[in-house]
Amino acid sequence: MVPEQFRALVLEEGDGKPRASFRTLPLSALPEGDVLVQVVYSSLNYKDGLAITGKGKIIRSFPCVPGIDLAGTVVESASPEFKPGDQVVLTGWGIGERHWGGYSQMARVRSQWLVPLPEGFTLEQAMAVGTAGFTAMLCVMALEEHGINRDRPVVVTGAAGGVGSVAVALLARRGYHVVASTGRPELHDYLRRLGAAEFIDRQELATPSGRPLESERWGGAVDTVGGDTLASLLRAMSYGCSVASCGLAGGSHLNTTVFPFILRGVNLLGIDSVYCPMPRRREAWRRLAEELPADLLAEMTTVRGLSEILDLAEAITDGQIRGRVVIDVNR
Ligand code: NDP
Repeated sequence: MVPEQFRALVLEEGDGKPRASFRTLPLSALPEGDVLVQVVYSSLNYKDGLAITGKGKIIRSFPCVPGIDLAGTVVESASPEFKPGDQVVLTGWGIGERHWGGYSQMARVRSQWLVPLPEGFTLEQAMAVGTAGFTAMLCVMALEEHGINRDRPVVVTGAAGGVGSVAVALLARRGYHVVASTGRPELHDYLRRLGAAEFIDRQELATPSGRPLESERWGGAVDTVGGDTLASLLRAMSYGCSVASCGLAGGSHLNTTVFPFILRGVNLLGIDSVYCPMPRRREAWRRLAEELPADLLAEMTTVRGLSEILDLAEAITDGQIRGRVVIDVNR
């Protein structure tokens, strides 16, 4: 039975900050799309925090339902690719930004954006991964394609956050010596359980040195922080190694010289999860289901209700969230 109404978080344009309200809406309020999904879970990402708090200009047209991720069951489909009953996952493609997203019990979306629930994952586990975990896998894939040195430590910045936690677990599982950069020493034990072998205080990496190059230290890096941290990673990369740059939790600027590139053949790899093409997307999800141990995914995940989302949005933009948060849209 397709419900006639659904509950969603709606953002409207406000003065400086969007106005957020929980609403019960008719199905006819949903935007166009060829597949109707009954959403079960969404997740909390840094971008969702920016959208809801208004700390970043994420929403492109109001009113909008935020939530850049969703997982649920198809209830109607005009596409031959999907039929009612299919379990699906959607991350990115502009949902929760340009198109209504996952903080809702129902979503109407384009079939080209959907990935069938990867074999081995439940809907809840898929959202425990979400955009953050998917991005972590894209980082690992890019590093392994472009240059990573197994004999040197691989550093993950913003390690206790969502992308960072999944990256630590994936890299450790693949046998790398993972150094976790975090500003929260109280989370060292948590990161050790995910597989971190060593720690570096995030302040140490965020301090500019004034030198164009440092001694070769890192065999690879996943950077979620950007700014001075990314510049510092580039200065200390080993010959021919790569940094996967996916985030800006510490800033969007980048002050560097060309020396890491022209004297050490260092690669700066840009990672985008939103418009990642479908074949690579499916490959990343397949590998996540295969390589990310279920116990570690559970260790880094908490499930919270959609009713708590306004506080969670503040917490993630303040760097206070540990690991991943799954959002139960029926709670
Ligand atoms: P989280 O908030 O979960 O993690 C970010 C982590 O960064 C925090 O936990 C904290 O880690 C660290 N951090 C926070 N503030 C600062 C600061 N001022 N200086 C240095 N470190 C800081 O967010 P996500 O993991 O969901 O996202 C991380 C970043 O990646 C965001 O910038 C997000 O926009 C980006 N992103 C990009 C994607 C893409 O497609 N390119 C997709 C997904 C995310 P700790 O406490 O351990 O120091």
